[in-house]
Amino acid sequence: MRGRPAVAVLVALALSGATAAAVVTPAAVAGTASTAPAQQDALPANDRRLVATSREGREIVARHYGSIDAGVQIVVIGQMHGSEPGGRKVAEELAARPIPEGLGLWIVVSMNPDGNERDTRGNARGVDLNRNFPARWQEGSRGTYWPGPRSASEPETRGMMAFLEAVRPTAVLSYHQAFDVVDISHALSRPAGRQLALYMGEGTSSVGCDGPCHGTMTQWIDRRLRTIAITVELDDRVSRAEAERAATAVLRLGRWLGR
Ligand SMILES: [Zn+2]
Repeated sequence: MRGRPAVAVLVALALSGATAAAVVTPAAVAGTASTAPAQQDALPANDRRLVATSREGREIVARHYGSIDAGVQIVVIGQMHGSEPGGRKVAEELAARPIPEGLGLWIVVSMNPDGNERDTRGNARGVDLNRNFPARWQEGSRGTYWPGPRSASEPETRGMMAFLEAVRPTAVLSYHQAFDVVDISHALSRPAGRQLALYMGEGTSSVGCDGPCHGTMTQWIDRRLRTIAITVELDDRVSRAEAERAATAVLRLGRWLGR
């Protein structure tokens, strides 16, 4: 429940049409004071938002790097599934990089800190957040891909929706493991996905969900925000070299998007 007020503030911002620039909620400031980033070499962020508070009370924070006024703003979500921590390294690597002019990055190291703590795909309730978004959501049985009791039932889902609606990024990159491929299933995101894959030295594929996808985050972004949303499947084990290559690819994609 501790996350509700901040989420409400973000929703209000989205509805009022306020711009993302230089808005820091009191809750976000208070909420991040005690949670310094885990990485040692991270540069100071110039803005931060409390995206949500997880079911178990962990804060999900977005930190902004580069220019908040830049024409290209990319949201990097290092982890959605708790058992897939590889993308956290990419997020932490980016937080330590100088950001080129014309680009802003919102970095969320993890949107599922409870799952990360438990090394489970789902959140603390056992919900697969990547089946919980209100885009073709459908009921399903409890287990690995449990979509939750209803769409957007989870605080992590609702917080991310409100955050993305508030900041309206140019692109969202969501890191997963371990298919080792860049997903190009959404037509709107395909050119950028191909470019990112090229920069990463990876292949592209339409990564399905064991049949049609229901309730995934990128589906929701594609349909509701009409914004580029790319699932990046990293390798089973993410070496430092791979994380560095993936981080460089994000910065190159930023330049490409602003071309
Ligand atoms: Zn995943």
